[in-house]
Amino acid sequence: MMEKVPEIFGSMVFNESVMRDKLPKEIYNALKKTMSQGTQLELDVANVVAAAMKDWAVEKGANHFTHWFQPMTGITAEKHDCFITPAGEGKVIMEFSGKELVRGESDASSFPSGGLRATFEARGYTVWDITSYAFIKNNTLYIPTAFCSYSGEALDKKTPLLRSMETLDKQAMRILKLFGNTSTKRVVATVGAEQEYFLVDKEVYLSRPDLVLTGRTLIGSRPPKGQELGDHYFGSIKPRVSAFMNELEVELWKLGVYAKTKHNESAPAQHELAPIFTTTNIATDHNQLIMELMKSVANKHNMACLLHEKPFEGVNGSGKHNNWSLATDSGVNLFEPGETPYENAQFLLFLVAVIKAVDDYQDLLRFSVANAGNDHRLGANEAPPAIVSMFLGQELVEVLEALESGLDYFNNYEHQMELGVTVLPNFPKDTTDRNRTSPFAFTGNKFEFRMVGSTFSIAEPNIVLNTVAAEVLRQFADQLEESEDFNSDLAAIIKKTYSEHKRIIFDGNNYSTEWVEEALDRGLSNLHTTVEALPAFVSEKSIDVFTRHNVFTKTEILSRYEILMESYCKTIHIEALTLVDMVKAQIIPACIDYQLELGKLMELKKSVGGKLSVYLELQLMENISSLSEGMLEKLNQLEDAILNSKDPRDTLAQSRFYRNEILLVMEELRYYVDELETLVARKHWPFPTYAQILNSII
Ligand code: ADP
Ligand code: MG
Repeated sequence: MMEKVPEIFGSMVFNESVMRDKLPKEIYNALKKTMSQGTQLELDVANVVAAAMKDWAVEKGANHFTHWFQPMTGITAEKHDCFITPAGEGKVIMEFSGKELVRGESDASSFPSGGLRATFEARGYTVWDITSYAFIKNNTLYIPTAFCSYSGEALDKKTPLLRSMETLDKQAMRILKLFGNTSTKRVVATVGAEQEYFLVDKEVYLSRPDLVLTGRTLIGSRPPKGQELGDHYFGSIKPRVSAFMNELEVELWKLGVYAKTKHNESAPAQHELAPIFTTTNIATDHNQLIMELMKSVANKHNMACLLHEKPFEGVNGSGKHNNWSLATDSGVNLFEPGETPYENAQFLLFLVAVIKAVDDYQDLLRFSVANAGNDHRLGANEAPPAIVSMFLGQELVEVLEALESGLDYFNNYEHQMELGVTVLPNFPKDTTDRNRTSPFAFTGNKFEFRMVGSTFSIAEPNIVLNTVAAEVLRQFADQLEESEDFNSDLAAIIKKTYSEHKRIIFDGNNYSTEWVEEALDRGLSNLHTTVEALPAFVSEKSIDVFTRHNVFTKTEILSRYEILMESYCKTIHIEALTLVDMVKAQIIPACIDYQLELGKLMELKKSVGGKLSVYLELQLMENISSLSEGMLEKLNQLEDAILNSKDPRDTLAQSRFYRNEILLVMEELRYYVDELETLVARKHWPFPTYAQILNSII
């Protein structure tokens, strides 16, 4: 299998080498220019590209094409069209025009638009995102596109992501120019998103309506053995899982996704896949493909892939580590500490820019990872808390501390400080020290943002990261471009920025309760749940930074906020309805059946002369009865709450109601159900238990 990888890798992608092969030279050059410089694609060029793409796709068995886009639902959408065009005499020919390639129309009215639909036309259109290659999946040619309304408002996640990459490019280029760099043409944000997921047996999955309808278990008592022994983490991979992983990899490779690492995670049945990093835009498309294929390949293997942030209470949830860095078009990583003091000065400037960006915009980063699912995970002693802080590693902190205080820290090291440029040093670059509990860790030459939830599109966190980094770089460039003494002003900025923002740096245990108190003392924000986190997006500061960088218009921000709030409420609403249904239709009848059986046994015992003890049956029945009573009370409360949820003043008030009332009663109801699960005979209990689900793959 392994030796075929180069052959199959990208075999279903209309990539550079296919383009070079299939396109006339001048067309290829024109397309390349558009790709690298973002220039307009002429229609005659598009026509030739489309024809070549169609021939290539048909050769590979595709009859349809689709504009593939990423609406606000967080997943992808597609509408398939056939290549056929009537050719008279009842015949057809296969055709695909430049116009069809570049632009498509789509009825936007069924996608969430957060009010944009009311004020703007319902129709939207999709535009080919030339920076992401077309590919073939399920006999269809997929064209990655951005999705906008007719008035130009973004209706998707890709448009603002591309805008954020543009502004970051622009501001980072200004900084590079200040350092005398004349060869770099572009700076791109690179991302490698590690994806965690659970695999469970399909039959077991299908017998849990909560998993099917909400992605997480709403009930279930703790299993006798969970992850306590730590025997799953990096453990050997079961054959069934291994077969799945192999097929998944091959399918991803065909689509040009650099799936590289796979291993078991800490929770039972939990696994991870890490791709090799690429530009943010493509990484975002690829992460969508990864999630989609995980589900479809699992299905083929009679398993279900759970992407929810917290499928099981008491068991580690799933996240997505968003590894982020900046690279020049020639592949130089700007967060790679350099060899010379001069390079290091540039590195340190970019580094303190990120420190300031994370500190200034903690709340926006927190916002970017907020949803109902992630609320169960963040701060649950297994994942980063809801407090954003940064880990830099001891060396970097020492360097920055030395710069701040003016001390020569390098006397402590064998490495002698070279006083090349002012006081910016050459330092040792051993960054093996890791802090796994940090939400935002510098890991040698990139930052790892670990708060992202496993179901998320990585677009949002990267839109925020790119924009806030661009904003701070803009501020630095504004100052330095005016500077008369670059070296000393540069040193001063680094020193001052570190000094003002070092409160965001924390290298202790982020899971500890002491940290929560200390963070409060440091003035860091702690937005516990989605309900607190989302309003940060519509704050003045947020609107300022996003509009200044043309990433979002104010209208786009307000509409997105509405969509996110609505989606939070809807998620919990569906969970509540599902729980009610499970209790009424299956759990209550199970409790009744079991009690009936106990009753019959007691009758039987009595009928043989009354000498046999019915103590056990009575005890059981008493316990089940009283727990059932509690369950019924909470069930009624939940049903009432669901009815009351229909009276929203605004979405914020409504979201508070869902969090404070509905989620709370659901938890209380769960308590009774989980207790009952331990009493009712397994053969009566209508759902597989945690132990059965988590160990369903053997
Ligand atoms: P971990 O210990 O967190 O698994 P790895 O070194 O395996 O760390 O890398 C994790 C992810 O980081 C991979 O997806 C990798 O491609 C990505 N990564 C590495 N370098 C960069 C970079 N310069 N920019 C973005 N992502 C990167
Ligand atoms: Mg990682």
